[in-house]
Amino acid sequence: MIYTDTRDKSVKVDFKTAVMSGMNQKTGGLYIPESFPKLQDSLLNKDPAPSFRDIAFNMAKPYVEGEIPDDELALIIQDAYPFSPKIAPLDAISYVLELFHGPTCAFKDFGARFMARTMSYLNRGEEPLHILVATSGDTGSAVGSAFHGVEGIDVTILYPEGKISLIQEKQLSTFTGNVRALKVKGTFDDCQKLVKTAFTDPKLRKKLRLSSANSINISRLLPQSFYYMYASLVVRNRCAMDNKIHDPAIIMVVPSGNFGNLTSGLIAREMGAPISGFVAATNTNKTIPDWIASGDYVPRASVETYANAMDVGAPSNYERIQAMYSLDEVRKMFASYWLDNDGIIKAIDNCHTKTGYIIDPHGAIGYQAWNDIRTSAMVDLIDGKKNDPANPGLTPNIPDWGIKVVNKKAVGIILETASPAKFSSTVVEAIGKEPPIPSRLEEVMRLPDKAIPMENDYEKFKKWLLNNL
Ligand SMILES: *Cc1c(COP(=O)(O)O)cnc(C)c1O
Repeated sequence: MIYTDTRDKSVKVDFKTAVMSGMNQKTGGLYIPESFPKLQDSLLNKDPAPSFRDIAFNMAKPYVEGEIPDDELALIIQDAYPFSPKIAPLDAISYVLELFHGPTCAFKDFGARFMARTMSYLNRGEEPLHILVATSGDTGSAVGSAFHGVEGIDVTILYPEGKISLIQEKQLSTFTGNVRALKVKGTFDDCQKLVKTAFTDPKLRKKLRLSSANSINISRLLPQSFYYMYASLVVRNRCAMDNKIHDPAIIMVVPSGNFGNLTSGLIAREMGAPISGFVAATNTNKTIPDWIASGDYVPRASVETYANAMDVGAPSNYERIQAMYSLDEVRKMFASYWLDNDGIIKAIDNCHTKTGYIIDPHGAIGYQAWNDIRTSAMVDLIDGKKNDPANPGLTPNIPDWGIKVVNKKAVGIILETASPAKFSSTVVEAIGKEPPIPSRLEEVMRLPDKAIPMENDYEKFKKWLLNNL
């Protein structure tokens, strides 16, 4: 596969270059595949649907063709995914796609584990690679866990001491072997600055091969498309039983921050997944809903919310979305919806009261979006009753599939991006009880803390890197 650049279509690089460099330093653009080959009809039409790993292998194949042989790719997929996404029906036309069954209990495991294994393969025969990540929570644990025990690569995680939750800190600071965490006396921005300074320090880079494991890396985006394909095929096949809707419009409801997850959904759709459209669901950081409503893209500083993994005011994957589609095409495919903190609490409570399902603060925005859209918000919008995009709720854009929702010909799949146990204090505030804690989270809480204290001082950080890597 040839990869091109969102800012310069004449750029052509191979998979290895796209993965190892993360982004194009010359143009500042992001890599995207030149084409999105359709999955074989034999798989698309299969009933029951193929297994998640079958889908993963066949979807990944064209993107690594000529660079990773089939038998190696099969091993990568097998090793990356000892777990699967699960589909939980909420009612006849609503499903939750649970993406938290991986080791760190959030969907980022799907991307990070594929990235770790492909990077390790592509780096064979070269000097060791040192990954530096600054994190304010979920990304660091997914990346640390994904690379743990992976050959030829080590990971150093920087996090702001005292500024993340206990469970998040435990998930970062208890690694051994090739992954370690530095607790920095500073803020998340300080951590990011230390990492950025290291990347632009020529003397350091002469001594150490450094890389990032950024979410803009195409090797984290491609594997997230696997579960969209899987879920849309499974749900399409079971609609005959669940709701008897013939040829339903399948709507993916995606709680979004940096819009990597949603972009992966677009890739799955291009590859033939039976997906009619998307709901871009955000918290108060509603840069994309505002763009869809007004046509103006206005990035802004981020605001802290209960759905903190989505606190992104300048989503980097906007760049990929607008390179792939015109605004008009986006408006035909997307509805958009946002909630503030009050709305998030009410949404967790609503979901629990109506369905018994305990949802996390990110998934809760998706739940409420789909619930509003299918009951009244889309009818109202089509009838001309528009919600001001300054207020929480559905923003005034009618996608092509809107009428199918009104005519009861649509089903919704809500992406549950994390286990509610990771956000237990918010869940308790909403429903008055603790969500059940998965055993792998409980175990991590019992492990000894191995975080290494670090001053917010570049020279000290650099010295540490040189002495310890
Ligand atoms: C990262 C994250 C998101 C946002 O995903 P994007 O790809 O950045 O849009 C949503 N929910 C959870 C739990 C996350 O960790």
